[in-house]
Amino acid sequence: MSRDGEKALPEHTRKSNRSLILRTLFRCDGMSRADLARATGLTRVSVSRIVDDLAAEGLVRESGPSPEGRVGKPSTLIALNPDAYHVVTLDLSAYAELSGAIMNLDGEVVHAMSVPTDGARGAALLDRVCALAAALVKRSTVRVLGVGVGSPGVVDTEGVVREAVAFDWHDLEVAAAISRAVPVPVHVANDANAAALAARTYGQPGVDNLALVRIGQGIGSGVIVGGALVTGARFTAGEIGHVLVEEGGAVCRCGRRGCLEVVAAVPWIRERLAEPGVSPDTVLAHAGRALGRVLAPVVAALGLEQVVLSGPPEIVAGVFLDETRAAIEHHSLAIVTDDFEIRVAVRGDDIVLLGGTALVVAEELGIR
Ligand SMILES: [Zn+2]
Repeated sequence: MSRDGEKALPEHTRKSNRSLILRTLFRCDGMSRADLARATGLTRVSVSRIVDDLAAEGLVRESGPSPEGRVGKPSTLIALNPDAYHVVTLDLSAYAELSGAIMNLDGEVVHAMSVPTDGARGAALLDRVCALAAALVKRSTVRVLGVGVGSPGVVDTEGVVREAVAFDWHDLEVAAAISRAVPVPVHVANDANAAALAARTYGQPGVDNLALVRIGQGIGSGVIVGGALVTGARFTAGEIGHVLVEEGGAVCRCGRRGCLEVVAAVPWIRERLAEPGVSPDTVLAHAGRALGRVLAPVVAALGLEQVVLSGPPEIVAGVFLDETRAAIEHHSLAIVTDDFEIRVAVRGDDIVLLGGTALVVAEELGIR
């Protein structure tokens, strides 16, 4: 096909073919053009043209001949260049500080930076967020693909924080504000949703149906079904922290009693562990069981393959994890949990930062 003929291709087809190639290369160490054509179903001509464009952009590089001892001319392997662009990512979920990082496309931290919030809220806090984003973009020595932000609260797909009570943010255009401070695209997601994207993009490959549960100051989750983030009609999907688990239980910050958070969020667990004469295993088992009961219908209804827990390892690993798993199994049909897996996140400490990178990589390159 002539170059002119190719121009007739709708722009979105061109873009989706490019994403398809990038996505395929992201999951492997290197592939020949012929293997890429087979894996993607695109013609070899299309593959070559897209690879040439990507090479000109620096996004892919040739990584030497294929090691397979084939007869004839050895084919050159094409690999993604993880340092073609860097991503600036921010995690706003720690409350006392804003943390940020520069990462490469593989999610490796190139530089980390955090600033205290000093109790700032509202517009003053947003100013600090913008300043941190701008400082990191300026600091990067490699082209920046975009800025990704994981924020607490309800966040819509336009990067408007509909509500983050602790920050006194209501219908605040966070992505637009950061965009005025940096010369690159900006994407904002709820922190648990960002973490779920991290588990999907940088976790075990091939898991298309998973929930990432963050056990922190509160409890939130991000749910991915069929490879796509579930946001729900009001962008509140995954908000499991205030599901009632104990009728007449302790008063929650939401004003009601007996929510999952007052049983299984970190401050409440720490408070109980500090009580004299209490057995840590009893507290952690009780919390894990409560979480498992809330997750069982989610796992069953959505057919999830995997639940990933992120939180302080001394709390979520061990008894807590075991009892969560046992409760999910106890409340489900065997066929639902046959191949089901629950585990602790590999990079629990910076999973929201990794999620900011996953968000940018998905939105800008179509790698998801
Ligand atoms: Zn509550």
